[in-house]
Amino acid sequence: MGMIRAAGRSGMRKIAILGSTGSIGESTLSVLEHAASLGEANFEVVALTANRNIERLAEQARKFRPSFIAVADEALGNDLRSAVSDLDIETGAGASAIEEAASRDTDWVMAAIVGAAGLKPTLKAAERGADIALANKECLVCAGEVVMAAIEKAGGALLPVDSEHNAIFQVFDFDQPHRVTRLILTASGGPFRTWTREQMAEATPAQAVAHPNWSMGAKISVDSATMMNKGLELIEAAHIFPVGHEQIEILVHPQSVVHSMVEYVDGSVLAQLGTPDMRTPIATTLAWPDRTPSPSARLDFAEVAKLTFEAPDIKRFPALRLAREAIESGGIMPAVLNAANEIAVASFLEGRIKFLDIAAITEQVLNRAGRVNGPASLSTLEDAIDADTQARRMAEEFVAAKAAA
Ligand code: NAD
Ligand code: MG
Repeated sequence: MGMIRAAGRSGMRKIAILGSTGSIGESTLSVLEHAASLGEANFEVVALTANRNIERLAEQARKFRPSFIAVADEALGNDLRSAVSDLDIETGAGASAIEEAASRDTDWVMAAIVGAAGLKPTLKAAERGADIALANKECLVCAGEVVMAAIEKAGGALLPVDSEHNAIFQVFDFDQPHRVTRLILTASGGPFRTWTREQMAEATPAQAVAHPNWSMGAKISVDSATMMNKGLELIEAAHIFPVGHEQIEILVHPQSVVHSMVEYVDGSVLAQLGTPDMRTPIATTLAWPDRTPSPSARLDFAEVAKLTFEAPDIKRFPALRLAREAIESGGIMPAVLNAANEIAVASFLEGRIKFLDIAAITEQVLNRAGRVNGPASLSTLEDAIDADTQARRMAEEFVAAKAAA
């Protein structure tokens, strides 16, 4: 497989960060800065991109001096150009400019755009054989077959950034995948781990984004609160690792210290541990197969004192069931799940629907798409985009109906 290729990694690595102004993007730049401060800076930043935050993008450009920066919102193109007019930096605007950033000559691309919006640029980078540090799990959920095939064909490595997948990647024996019996994906349980359904019914966006362990963007924070994040990660893991989805288990672990585990046929369980700081998995993907220092805090086991585990509660968190059903159905259903969830989460954050409506609407869309399309298969980018577009339209209808009720 592409991901276990251990190519020579000497010399300067050229890198691009898609979504550099987000939580993962900023953490990536923080790891680069830290490495530079220790004299380990063999990285050259070539391209950075943002959705709308051109002030922050311009600041980053001043510091890291990439040759190209792009903003997704076309209307902000002129403002971006004037913000860096004193620098020798090319700028671009619009979805095509983000793809252009992904297409620039780099060895390593951080895919850290949130949502299916990251699919096309990530695919561009994959198709030219760059190593892909993948944070943007939605692009695998939406079109994992297509993205993984592109990576395999072009020969780059897929380096998972998501902490669970990064943990598994570090302890998975790719030479003997048939000796793996289970992947155990750990989940913090999110801010509502101990809440009743009645309490969740009244949860506000501010409560939903207040994650107990991790500081992240708004969308993934809400996904953690519904536990759809773990559902998306189940599908992500099934694409990345050569195991069946029925071999992947979800386990709630509120301390977020054990980032995930791999069980082997002899009963051995291998885990990767660390503080809940994304700069550790990001550093792993930056230097792999070598290691590079990260500024993340070290684990103090005596202070942590206790690690606890509990089974997930599918009744209170139906998103887990929906994701499991979507991957069992296969074809376009994971793409439908993802698109419906994206619309529902955005609508919740806008105050148009209630917290429990997120999973309810996602389920309505899955039911309708299943009836309309039957077991439609997904083999091309177009299949994925069609399924995504249709599911978004259906979700908008259900949101409008809830909002009017
Ligand atoms: P974020 O909202 O903080 O950042 C998202 C980035 O994508 C920003 O730079 C934004 O400008 C850009 N962006 C948003 N919409 C865009 C669009 N339509 N076109 C182009 N660019 C766009 O999100 P985040 O927390 O950094 O998460 C990014 C991805 O990483 C998500 O897929 C998330 O699930 C995944 N992830 C995040 C964490 C975390 O700790 N934050 C952990 C694991 C996985
Ligand atoms: Mg994760």
